[in-house]
Amino acid sequence: MSYRHTGRAAVLGAGIAGLVTARVLSEHYDEVLLVERDELPDQPGHRRFVPQSHHAHGLLGSGRRVLVGLFPGLSAELAAGGALTPGSADPALGDRSLFLVRGATTIRIPAWWSGGFGASRILLEHAIRARVRALPNVTVLDGTPATGLLTDRSRRRVTGVRTPNRNLDADLVVDASGRNSPLPEWLERIGYRPPPRSVVHSDVRYVSVVTEPDPSFDPEWLAILGGQAASGSSVGGVVLRVEHGLLHISFGSIGRGGPVPADLAELRDFADRLTAPVVAEALRRSTPVGPIRTFRVRSNTRRHYDRAREMPGGVLALGDAASAANPIYGQGMSVAALSAVALGRVLAADDGEGFGRRAARAIAATSAEAWRLAVGEDLRYGCRTEGIRSPWAARFGEGYRNRLERAAALDPEVTAAFNDVLNLHRPLSSLGSPRIARRVLRPLRDRDPGPLSATVAAVLGAA
Ligand SMILES: Cc1cc2nc3c(=O)[nH]c(=O)nc-3n(C[C@H](O)[C@H](O)[C@H](O)COP(=O)(O)OP(=O)(O)OC[C@H]3O[C@@H](n4cnc5c(N)ncnc54)[C@H](O)[C@@H]3O)c2cc1C
Repeated sequence: MSYRHTGRAAVLGAGIAGLVTARVLSEHYDEVLLVERDELPDQPGHRRFVPQSHHAHGLLGSGRRVLVGLFPGLSAELAAGGALTPGSADPALGDRSLFLVRGATTIRIPAWWSGGFGASRILLEHAIRARVRALPNVTVLDGTPATGLLTDRSRRRVTGVRTPNRNLDADLVVDASGRNSPLPEWLERIGYRPPPRSVVHSDVRYVSVVTEPDPSFDPEWLAILGGQAASGSSVGGVVLRVEHGLLHISFGSIGRGGPVPADLAELRDFADRLTAPVVAEALRRSTPVGPIRTFRVRSNTRRHYDRAREMPGGVLALGDAASAANPIYGQGMSVAALSAVALGRVLAADDGEGFGRRAARAIAATSAEAWRLAVGEDLRYGCRTEGIRSPWAARFGEGYRNRLERAAALDPEVTAAFNDVLNLHRPLSSLGSPRIARRVLRPLRDRDPGPLSATVAAVLGAA
């Protein structure tokens, strides 16, 4: 028999993680408070405390699947907001692809679902926020920063959250306040050691601009990811098609010395040096509709609440507050959504015993794969780490990875397997299965590139 969690849950932060968590908890608690320090807009809009929304946000297939399941009709709502989505029944979309440029290799991923919704983060967040606001047992308290935890006398249980104006009692507090989460510090204040953490000093820099393409520019693709400056380079460009036919173009670098172009001319110069000329073409054949934005993330942190020696009951963390990997790999929103669903599963099967520990483990398990993938990539660029146990690089050698990427460019079966892993549908280990390994390791000349090569050549500008 499952144990019913009645009473009130408080979720801290109304970003993607907080919104999805509130939706999940609304099925298990009588009342859910969503506590957000920003003033939330009624329209799609950027927010002071979510500056990353100025930079291209792609959604993985796994995240898309979860969001559509939790918010039926979301695709159509996004389409109504101007997004290019399969739900929009837009026949012009056809089988437009996602292109992944990895050094000298271009991998075409024909299935549209891997390209997310064709919506910006602000439109996606707005659509989800509207759905969560409409839930009868969810109250959104915006303009309300959480400032600390309330506990019972023994301090063994969190009983709510402090805000400047009042204390909010809650049976469960879920921290979804993002990568600068204050939870470790709050735990220290009430006598607990902060959880162990893993850190990668990736020093990621972004430069982004939203543009309106020329009417004549009607690309065959939906997204170009990682058009690098040179093989193995830590500098790349991303172009996502977003609502109202706009392009969200971001350039990113990992590690020291990443270029940060200051104006459009410099940005164009920089784009010209990328492996995939299509990124420069997208920039050249479109006009900026807003300023050039920059962003820097010095390090990425995973907080191991599942491994904390002692935790008070009644408090959990998920989303970036628990695991914030290098954003360049586009995993964050999907991991947040997967984690919220994992929490829901624990709640549904709960018998009341050891709930906190089981929930922390389930949340950690859903983000572990994404973290490993991201760290493995970061290590290719020599990023310094702290507390990292088993890097990706230790599992598959560099040689295998290079061959895998080349095979993924040519062999549809390897493409599909690679795509499943990048989209967090399947674990990394699936790329080492005997079936895939055989295809990866067979001599390249045995392969028929088939009809992919023409499209790939077109994207690379080589046709
Ligand atoms: C430059 C950049 C690019 C990215 N690109 C991608 C991408 O392509 N794809 C992808 O999936 N992810 C991407 N991400 C990651 C993505 O933004 C997050 O991982 C994802 O949105 C989940 O974050 P979150 O909800 O946990 O945190 P956030 O989105 O940061 O939201 C946290 C919320 O908590 C609120 N808050 C903070 N402190 C308090 C407090 N004390 N009290 C109340 N409220 C508080 C904030 O105002 C905010 O609303 C990117 C991130 C960056 C930095």
